[in-house]
Amino acid sequence: MVNLAVIGAGIGGCSAAYFARKYLPRSKVTVYETEDRVGGRVFTKSEGEMRKELGAVFFNPSNRTICSFVEEMELEVVKRNREPTGFAVWNGTEIIFKSSQSMFYEMLRLIARYKLGLLKLRLIIKEAKGKIRTLYSKEGERPMELWELFEGTNLDMWYKKPFDQCLLEMGIGRKLIDEIITPVMRIIYSQNANLGGFAGLSSLIGVYGGSTYSLKDGNITLPRKLLKDSGAKVELESKVESIEKTPEGSFRVLVGEKASVFDAVIIATPLEGAGLQLDGVSTSQLRPREYQSVFINVMKGIIDPDFFNLKPNKLLPTILTSPGADPITHISVQKSKSNQPWVTVTSKEPLDTDFLGDIVKNGRSILNHSWSTAYPIFRPIERLPPICIDKGLMYLNSIESAAASLESSAFAALNATLMLRNDLS
Ligand SMILES: Cc1cc2nc3c(=O)[nH]c(=O)nc-3n(C[C@H](O)[C@H](O)[C@H](O)COP(=O)(O)OP(=O)(O)OC[C@H]3O[C@@H](n4cnc5c(N)ncnc54)[C@H](O)[C@@H]3O)c2cc1C
Repeated sequence: MVNLAVIGAGIGGCSAAYFARKYLPRSKVTVYETEDRVGGRVFTKSEGEMRKELGAVFFNPSNRTICSFVEEMELEVVKRNREPTGFAVWNGTEIIFKSSQSMFYEMLRLIARYKLGLLKLRLIIKEAKGKIRTLYSKEGERPMELWELFEGTNLDMWYKKPFDQCLLEMGIGRKLIDEIITPVMRIIYSQNANLGGFAGLSSLIGVYGGSTYSLKDGNITLPRKLLKDSGAKVELESKVESIEKTPEGSFRVLVGEKASVFDAVIIATPLEGAGLQLDGVSTSQLRPREYQSVFINVMKGIIDPDFFNLKPNKLLPTILTSPGADPITHISVQKSKSNQPWVTVTSKEPLDTDFLGDIVKNGRSILNHSWSTAYPIFRPIERLPPICIDKGLMYLNSIESAAASLESSAFAALNATLMLRNDLS
């Protein structure tokens, strides 16, 4: 019998509990969670007929671990980009690019503007998808550290360099990078420059590599279901303050005044925001990362075209931004059959009510959320930090040095559980 503690009930922790049931069948699992809810950076909020994902929004068919959960649990999915909706790019003063609603016309126009860049981009994505498939099969053959998996499939070249440098070296023009790729990356990572290459690549596959999906009943259904099926004991409102390795090689987990001892621990939260101390183990390979804050304001109302120097009815439902529009990174409109639309303004810094009022005419705030540690500010790195910190102590969110997504946390959870099984056998 293995007595296992999982710290954090986000998608990573819930996946780890689920995999422990599958691959460590003689284990007893306790999941500790600071908040009074499961999900972490998966956070679905509903109001009437409208639903909003305040955290992770979509996944794609290349996300093998997430897709296998969806299949095993028979969860219903919705395709997100069903209709071409069009987008504009705003530089803080004016709209610098506007897509057309017609896909055919749009393709012709983009090919004329960016020459062969778009075709090259498709080839890069195709090749990268092939390497990622190899990475999954290597993990299946033998679980190993992430850096070994990445180096074994030549994917490490992506996290070692900035994304734009990787693309330039592969023949993508500066114009396409600056006018389209950077604004798209700003929606996803709120980052302007020196974005780590693998973070860029994984998002490029997500947004440009085919359809994307969400769960019909809200993304929150996935971590909830994983946890339920794991049969783990869940301790909500239980912040783990320290994990200490004992002389016998087990781990003393402290929550408030209460200490419990476990044979193994999986840490499933970034240490940077966890307020969690590690004692008796070496953490020299875990360099602290800088995290990005993200602020989300959802309002009922209509975008004011004057704010963007446009005529009425000339705005498109998705507004991407270039660095001149900081701190706003993205504005999107969600239509409703019976109600006023919802306008979501996403920014890197809090926005004051007057400023939001300038963007959304007669807007009424309905939801807002701030993520203090949304995802790392991704920088190129030489080698990924380890998942296995010590025998019996795994750290899933090491993977966030390369990418932070539903898939990366679930993938790291599978890898960590399989490494733990080897460690303990
Ligand atoms: C605004 C936003 C949009 C995003 N969009 C997407 C997207 O469209 N697609 C995608 O794939 N990914 C997206 N992501 C990234 C994705 O949400 C995360 O990478 C993923 O959910 C991380 O899961 P996790 O379980 O590793 O960490 P988390 O979800 O952060 O879970 C960690 C949990 O641990 C808990 N915890 C922290 N410290 C302690 C402690 N000391 N003791 C006990 N519990 C603790 C936390 O409360 C939290 O619940 C987005 C993220 C954000 C913020």
